[in-house]
Amino acid sequence: MLRPEAGVEPEPPRDCPLCPRLVAYRAANAQAHPDWFNGPAASFGPEDARLLVAGLAPGRTGANRTGRPFTGDHAGVLLYATLEKMGFARGRYDPNGEDDLELVDCMISNAVRCAPPGNKPEGSEESNCRPFLTARIAALPRLKVIVTLGDVSRRNVLKALGLKASAGLPGHGTEFQAGPYVVLNSYHCSRLNTNTGRLTPAMFEAVFERARALLDG
Ligand code: SF4
Repeated sequence: MLRPEAGVEPEPPRDCPLCPRLVAYRAANAQAHPDWFNGPAASFGPEDARLLVAGLAPGRTGANRTGRPFTGDHAGVLLYATLEKMGFARGRYDPNGEDDLELVDCMISNAVRCAPPGNKPEGSEESNCRPFLTARIAALPRLKVIVTLGDVSRRNVLKALGLKASAGLPGHGTEFQAGPYVVLNSYHCSRLNTNTGRLTPAMFEAVFERARALLDG
């Protein structure tokens, strides 16, 4: 059974101080854009979800701005459209989060909850934030399937589960058992990956089709 660290909640506090570089980045963004969220982006979705989608970290003008994972940056457009198509979301998606979008049987979280400069968290920041990911996973009583978006997410999910990063194959479309969960890996739905064709909508959809089949099978 997955045991989170004592006293660690699934969602970090709004003023989490654990990563000095990211705290400074939050403060700089807050100074430049006081109307932005500029904090650890809370996970989005129902607590009884059977599917968890684990991203890398908030984008500066995405979740760091709006406070909702994958909301406001390019990656969210494909992610939410795909989730909606596969029955894991309903409602209207707005890039400013001013919508009625809700997730169905699905939660979205991130390996690192604060926006990192250049979208690149440092190893120590991944380690600092991992106990929150462990606690997040442990607090989902019906969880069965985890979709990881990108290799940083894959590694952190495995470590959050108390496994080695080598316990599951990297790459797009790979699948493995990790404790009681099935992990499905996808390339990240970033602008870079979709613009270069490394990840096509069909490739992305196939991952969530598999998640749907696992949950409904
Ligand atoms: S990234 Fe995670 S551990 Fe680091 S300051 Fe933000 S919430 Fe805290």
